[in-house]
Amino acid sequence: MKCIVCNCATSAGLSPWHMICPSCHYESADLKPMVNQQQAHEQLNEHDREIALKHLRAENFKAIVEHISELASPCAKSLLDVGSAHGWFLEQAATRFQVTGVEPDVAVGGKAAARGLPVRSGYFPDALAPGETFDVIVFNDVIEHIPDIGSALGACNAHLNADGLLVLNLPSSRGFFYSLSKLFARIHWNGPFERMWQKGLPSPHVHYFNDSNLTTLVTSHGFSIARSFSLAALSTNGLLERLRLVGKVNPVALYVQYAAVICAIPLVKLFPSDIVVCVFRKQP
Ligand SMILES: [Zn+2]
Repeated sequence: MKCIVCNCATSAGLSPWHMICPSCHYESADLKPMVNQQQAHEQLNEHDREIALKHLRAENFKAIVEHISELASPCAKSLLDVGSAHGWFLEQAATRFQVTGVEPDVAVGGKAAARGLPVRSGYFPDALAPGETFDVIVFNDVIEHIPDIGSALGACNAHLNADGLLVLNLPSSRGFFYSLSKLFARIHWNGPFERMWQKGLPSPHVHYFNDSNLTTLVTSHGFSIARSFSLAALSTNGLLERLRLVGKVNPVALYVQYAAVICAIPLVKLFPSDIVVCVFRKQP
């Protein structure tokens, strides 16, 4: 298999479904998405997981909107959020932009639309009208799920106005927790590594980038890099809810874990973050 970034032959990774490019360190997984096909209980777990992440997402989305506002031209108005899920980013971005969301999960998107958010049901770019363009297109935790990423980037270019911004918020292969999960996988404890790739979930990750190989790929589709920054992958806000979801633990064990993570946060901040955001500008 050839690397989608640098065209080198990829090598076997840490699982039969995992590949790594020895040259640019891009990683891929042969895991199949199954949106709208999952069992009801799995949907519920995914929903709980999202709710537990709400506090962290809200802080991070606020920071992303601030960066976009700084980089966008003063007359930039329209913003498209691809995979808008519960609509939390739309709500945050609506303070500055005229927003539109696209969401393939009918149940999740329907709930956001019922709250009055402008969400269309479907996939990007099929849910857009031909020739429909925006000043900003955002993917929050979405691009790493799209198998044909080259076509998606081409469609981004086609649906952006001149000088438009493409914002990719995604997990980083340089991240502390991802690196730790790879270390565990090497000693045959695969659970954390499979969790990082969301193996077995309705929409698993199929790519793992770092800011460098992502920039190489995106700039080959008619963009230049405007800014990249990292965001916290751990926050004390909502942490207890996140830990509760990890498994059925007794209350004592839960609070011991909580205290341990609170103490570890300053240490974790010394290492590269697991969340990177890259902002690209459409080239003339
Ligand atoms: Zn490569």
